[in-house]
Amino acid sequence: MERVYNFNAGPSALPKEVLERAQKELVNFQNTGMSIMELSHRSQAYEDVHNEAIQLLKELLSIPENYEVLFLQGGASLQFSMLAMNFLQEGKIGNYVLTGSWSEKAIKEGKLIGQTAIAASTKETKYTSIPSLDKLTYQENDAYVHITSNNTIYGTQWQSFPTVNHAPLIADMSSDILSRPLDVEKFGLIYAGAQKNLGPSGVTVAIIRKDLLESNVDHVPTMLQYKTHSETNSLYHTPPTFAIYMLRNVLNWVKEQGGTNTIAAKNAEKAKIIYDAIDESNGFYSGHAEKGSRSLMNITFNLPTEEDSKRFLANAKDLGFVGLNGHRSVGGCRASIYNAVPLEACVALRDYMISFKK
Ligand SMILES: *Cc1c(COP(=O)(O)O)cnc(C)c1O
Repeated sequence: MERVYNFNAGPSALPKEVLERAQKELVNFQNTGMSIMELSHRSQAYEDVHNEAIQLLKELLSIPENYEVLFLQGGASLQFSMLAMNFLQEGKIGNYVLTGSWSEKAIKEGKLIGQTAIAASTKETKYTSIPSLDKLTYQENDAYVHITSNNTIYGTQWQSFPTVNHAPLIADMSSDILSRPLDVEKFGLIYAGAQKNLGPSGVTVAIIRKDLLESNVDHVPTMLQYKTHSETNSLYHTPPTFAIYMLRNVLNWVKEQGGTNTIAAKNAEKAKIIYDAIDESNGFYSGHAEKGSRSLMNITFNLPTEEDSKRFLANAKDLGFVGLNGHRSVGGCRASIYNAVPLEACVALRDYMISFKK
């Protein structure tokens, strides 16, 4: 069977080269006579992979010396709790920018731990945009300011980031990390579940500024302290070794592609093809996001009627397009075009959109 055009929102497409490499190395990894999954996480062969993944991420995102890369588990969803447990101290405020379902979930967990505030919200307008940077309201005693860099469900993305000086800026970058170059220094903490742009599910990447590891976490369970994982090179307990191996392979692939600048240009080209199909359809396809807030990762759109959308999706399935249905909470259509989705898939979708309209 041919590989399909995979527009899944997450877990999502992986580069074919990465899968083929894993296939080739699966049964006997580097002459160990074992697969990577069967190696001890304390073995040199595994540790080399683990450290290469950390090194590659530092290189590709130009992560400064005063930051650490951590491999955690529990997905971005556990980060919602973990960041609040580590940083939301008594008398302080967790300040959240609400731009979609994931930010709502983040603040929900923050509320279970301490006091929260809303720095800005676009809920009133159905999350069709990112608030402008001068509309964010801060509190004097903010423990942190939290944003969601790309809103996977609504298809909006921050085009630039605020400069926050009074507290660490924390970002959930699950669905756009490594899709473009990043000024890491703007952030105290960046986290991302791997299953969109970085690899398979099972590993969560955190990039944390070292001074934040000093916060008082005496009351926090050991496994949920960032410090625990930092002090042990993310080997405090058994890490998801296969997921980290796959992450390493994906990072190698990104490097071979030319790094984040090249990837960003490709992503812009891919997104333009589909957004153009929307904009040139005389309103047959309507994008959910306002133009200035459009995501280059998740393109959300509707057809004139629910019936049309259903037919569009059913025909698409027959033609080998996978994952084009919108999130169950919003309906409509969504094309997730992460780093690993090839240009050809976007061209094929554009052609299908044009012919379906006719
Ligand atoms: C997918 C996603 C999550 C949830 O990630 P899990 O790893 O399933 O917990 C959180 N935030 C954003 C922005 C996402 O896209």
